[in-house]
Amino acid sequence: MGVIQGCPASPTVFGMIIHDLFWSSEQLNLGVTIGGVQIPLLLFADDKCSKIRQRLSKALVQPVVLYGAPSLGPALSRTNWRKIESIQKKFLQHELGVRTQVPYAILLAEVGMLSLEAEALLLAIQYTVRVRGQEDNRYSKQAWISSKSSGCGTDLACWSAFWGIEEKDWEPLISLRTRVADSVIQKLWEDPTPRQAYYCRDIFRLTPYTEHAYLTSDLSPHLQRLVACYRTSSHSLRVEEGRWTGIPWEQRMCKLFTLGQIETEHHVFLKCPQYSLLREQHEISFHDLRDFFLVSPIRLGSYILAVDKAQQLALEQLVGPTDDPPT
Ligand SMILES: [Zn+2]
Repeated sequence: MGVIQGCPASPTVFGMIIHDLFWSSEQLNLGVTIGGVQIPLLLFADDKCSKIRQRLSKALVQPVVLYGAPSLGPALSRTNWRKIESIQKKFLQHELGVRTQVPYAILLAEVGMLSLEAEALLLAIQYTVRVRGQEDNRYSKQAWISSKSSGCGTDLACWSAFWGIEEKDWEPLISLRTRVADSVIQKLWEDPTPRQAYYCRDIFRLTPYTEHAYLTSDLSPHLQRLVACYRTSSHSLRVEEGRWTGIPWEQRMCKLFTLGQIETEHHVFLKCPQYSLLREQHEISFHDLRDFFLVSPIRLGSYILAVDKAQQLALEQLVGPTDDPPT
């Protein structure tokens, strides 16, 4: 297949081919291993692609989705906001390579982003504060006044209050983003689902609310996704598998050792005797899963990969090759 010199289709075709080549090589374990990190192909800026995609999403997708948000936002129902946010949710699921069941609040916390509704609210307040501070003879001010008197745009205070931001807290604008972020995050996490409660207790630290180190590190996209899957319970450990198949909690035992131990992330990564040699090799000795997830991204990624592979191998020896679980 070829295109003429300078053809605009060239980068797209190149991207399609190189994407499949890279993932196939990685999945077939081709290439070399350096310092515990598998390098299938050396590509220019390959590990920066995720960052670039996130920036493109912020620069190209978000403005389109949020177009008109300052005037339309207050009138949208909760259902409509959920529909709009599903675009961002799908994007984050794809970026992190996790299951669709992972709650939106958790996806946002992993990457340190605000919800689309929070971004829209921020825009709406900024716009309103700026316009109402203008001279009365400005067209934008007159339009704003007439829309208020006709009953449009009067719900911003209500919408804002729903997210815990009173009108008196709209100014100063310079620190508005921080106030909106704090308030929205508090609201999203104030009544956590059991799954959110587990993450909050064992995995996440909501403060500081920033992208987690493993996502900004030089880990390959494959390893970043593997870490993301274990952080967000998108894995096939018994503790999770039992939820889909309706096995009671106390019967979700470790598949490899009959020690009466439930196969949780904590058990597999920090306790299971099957991986004690790997823990020694990677110098992993923690009691707390949160501390474990704070080790340097390279060490975290290579240890999780080693355990993941060792588990697959051990299971194959026990019962023969298994199919991938449903995602
Ligand atoms: Zn075990």
